[in-house]
Amino acid sequence: MPHDLIAPGTVWLVGAGPGDPDLLTRKAERLIAAADVVFYDALVGPGVLDLIPAGVERVGVGKRSGRHSKDQGTIDDLIVAAARAGRRVVRLKGGDPSVFGRSTEEVDACAAHGIPVRICPGITAASAAAAAGTLSLTLRGLARSLTFVTAHAKKDEPLDLDWASLARADTTLAVYMGRAAAGEVARSLIHAGLAPDTPVVIAVNVSLPDERLIHGRLDALAFLVRTIGDRDPALLLIGPAMASRRPVPAPTRPAATLSRSSV
Ligand code: SAH
Repeated sequence: MPHDLIAPGTVWLVGAGPGDPDLLTRKAERLIAAADVVFYDALVGPGVLDLIPAGVERVGVGKRSGRHSKDQGTIDDLIVAAARAGRRVVRLKGGDPSVFGRSTEEVDACAAHGIPVRICPGITAASAAAAAGTLSLTLRGLARSLTFVTAHAKKDEPLDLDWASLARADTTLAVYMGRAAAGEVARSLIHAGLAPDTPVVIAVNVSLPDERLIHGRLDALAFLVRTIGDRDPALLLIGPAMASRRPVPAPTRPAATLSRSSV
């Protein structure tokens, strides 16, 4: 076991990527193998959790809207307590810890107790969604910038976003946690001047077996979003680069496989 990767009493915040264990970094995989205890979010893929060795304690601290979960303060306390007990702590977070992952709270909690804490990056949902659709988030001349925004609204409150600056025709907007507010996002962007026929992609369960990419236009977003399940993670991608669907030939079977199966 590569225990030297994590000293006892230290914490690693580890990006678990969008779900498919093959999209983990090698470092993330090594850290998981070296941990004494793993705390994980609801969005961490089952295939990633399967990599946690038998005998390593695993603690679900699942944060997923609509379901009971531990609050951030409780999670901070659990991580700190485990590290103070001298354990090697891995905190698995969906995607990349630095993107809407509340990593700073956990870093600060560790720092406040003198606990060494490090971060291993992961593939964020927007990157994985673009790859799944053979798309590019930026596109020369068409999408010159990329904006990550969260549309997680507090109950019954309108979204507090700067629509005028978001409604740019030459950008790609990646909207995290945006399913519930999809209608409001579309209306507000159109009201702020974005064309109603701006291409959108709703990327659901990216990199998981039930992955779905729904292509459409901005003024149909509220309607399209109704076709996806309440629990499935979904990312909204909005902008001209999302129209760049090209016919991509399906991969052919590798020669090695062919010759093996023909023996
Ligand atoms: N740190 C994560 C984002 C956490 S916020 C990251 O970097 O990806 C949670 C939101 O991420 C979800 O509401 C959804 O919008 C998006 N998301 C995460 N995993 C996803 C997946 N496999 N498919 C689609 N969207 C995903």
